[in-house]
Amino acid sequence: MEKRRTVPVKLDVDSDDAALLEDTVDEFLWAANYTTRYAFEGEYVTTSKTTLHDDTYEDVRDETALHSNHVQAARNKAAEACKSVVEKWKQGKKASMPYFTSPHLVYDHRTATFHDKYVSLATTDGRIEAEYVLPEGERDTPHAKYFFSDEYETTGAELHYSNGNWMLHIHCKTEVESDTSEQATTENRTVLGVDLGVNNLAVTSTGTFWTGDEFNHWRQEYEKRRSSLQQCGTRWAHENMQVVGQKEEGRFKETLHRISNELVGEARDYGCSVIAFEDLTDIRERTGASWGHKWAFNRLYEYVGYKAEEHGIDVEQVDPENTSRRCSHCGFTHPNNRDGEVFECLKCGYKNHADYNAAKNIGLRYLRRNQTGSGGGAPVGVRLNSAGPKVPHTMRTGA
Ligand SMILES: [Zn+2]
Repeated sequence: MEKRRTVPVKLDVDSDDAALLEDTVDEFLWAANYTTRYAFEGEYVTTSKTTLHDDTYEDVRDETALHSNHVQAARNKAAEACKSVVEKWKQGKKASMPYFTSPHLVYDHRTATFHDKYVSLATTDGRIEAEYVLPEGERDTPHAKYFFSDEYETTGAELHYSNGNWMLHIHCKTEVESDTSEQATTENRTVLGVDLGVNNLAVTSTGTFWTGDEFNHWRQEYEKRRSSLQQCGTRWAHENMQVVGQKEEGRFKETLHRISNELVGEARDYGCSVIAFEDLTDIRERTGASWGHKWAFNRLYEYVGYKAEEHGIDVEQVDPENTSRRCSHCGFTHPNNRDGEVFECLKCGYKNHADYNAAKNIGLRYLRRNQTGSGGGAPVGVRLNSAGPKVPHTMRTGA
């Protein structure tokens, strides 16, 4: 299976280069909006990348000074957004022509070169070089673990401008060994099911895991410091506790932002139009999660929600009942199917990681809800079922 990570890296950009980047972002957004407008002309919305390429490429090259790969990336962005609008229409939902305003710019290996200390980026007027601004002296940063790791390969990046900073969100991936070949397959073509938990903060139906180690470690440190401050009982200790709390909260949020970006990236990589979570209301009772975890799950859901929206992806919650006890292969539901992290179906013998099995069930439940409901949302479900023989009939009709 493949593991993907996104590493945010701040760039040191002087004012001349910043002007060039701003210009490039403007032209990129113009190109994406031009292509989108073109797609919406005529009787049907054009979603084919090839057609859009043939019909708009020359115009955009004439009108802008963008690198040809930026022209293509803008066209892809437009095509994907148009496709998700059409997808929503098919589900009977309202959606209007996309219009891009967020200062984001997509880079690939033709438009960006990643060096050890700096990146070289294509602009509307040649290339600029920008040094990375990295946290000092910390060994366990995502930069060290993924971006500068030999095991990870850099696949591209997205340039963002926010709060006065140029940030490069660098996409990295690695192949990891998997004991079942099934984990590598993408059974849910249109829905990404996400299971949230303590040991693994998030696991998707595509078989990607985000461990809770980092979060759990910080939480424990925080609890320790808080209780030692609480024992002091003084006014000073109380105020200090609040400061510690705010600092930790900022760190948690940063991690959750990163994970939410990666979850949305996963949905985009697999062409999913929906991300399904379990309903979070009683998650503490079900999973034994702490208040801190519930807080984290709610933030994660919120962040994924607004980030997914930018890409026309819906985020939904489904009924969580039995998602950890049900066999995602045959539908047999029994508490003894699960033993800690191991799921092994007592009926059909299907064996896999318990959280992965749950993530698949969450995706399947979303589909079933939309098939049997009165909303006429059949297209989504039909597409999953036609994706392969992995969804037995009993799953679709069973209680
Ligand atoms: Zn089974």
